[in-house]
Amino acid sequence: MSRYVLPDLPYDYGALEPHLSGKIMQLHHDKHHRTYVDTANQCIDKLIEIRRKRDFETIAALEHKLAFNVSGHVLHSLFWQNLAPQAGGEPEGELARAIVRDFGSFESFKQQLVHTASTIMGSGWAALVWDPVIQRLGTTQIHDHQSEVTQGSFPLMVLDAWEHAYYLQYQTEKNRYFEAIWNLWNWNDVAQRFSAAQAVDVRLERAADQPAAAPPSVH
Ligand code: MN
Repeated sequence: MSRYVLPDLPYDYGALEPHLSGKIMQLHHDKHHRTYVDTANQCIDKLIEIRRKRDFETIAALEHKLAFNVSGHVLHSLFWQNLAPQAGGEPEGELARAIVRDFGSFESFKQQLVHTASTIMGSGWAALVWDPVIQRLGTTQIHDHQSEVTQGSFPLMVLDAWEHAYYLQYQTEKNRYFEAIWNLWNWNDVAQRFSAAQAVDVRLERAADQPAAAPPSVH
């Protein structure tokens, strides 16, 4: 049966120092991320069980729990790959041009993403997303791991703004963490995600040559 799987970090725990401590990375990956994966798998087991029994009393709570934990797994998996040792700087090529087109400048994009992160109430993420409907980049807050998400948009680059992401190192100075992370962005990874997202068509309108429904089959 299919299972959610905790991916290995693509670098050593201490590889992002001094910007992110090895202790944070170890706890964040091995404890927090692992818990989301394990809990998501437990939710799947319970959903299979209630379907088997046709006992749907708890389905709404289970689906909410599944959404929280799967989204936590997805966002952390993206976050680890979005970061790299000896990275940062500014993107190049098509991603760089799209950022200037949609935010005015790289500096304006950076300010917008940091502001998005620093104004989260409670736990959440800031993300650079691709909106396939109007073919534009944008930023968004994600409350917890899953709320306030625009359907159809794709996360390209995510910034964990939960306290567990920075508190051991930065304590109450979260803006120092939001600044330090710009030494770690892996723009090659973000650019590859951007390229893949642009190929997606969410098909909000029916193509002119496509029938409304398949014609009934004749026996
Ligand atoms: Mn986290």
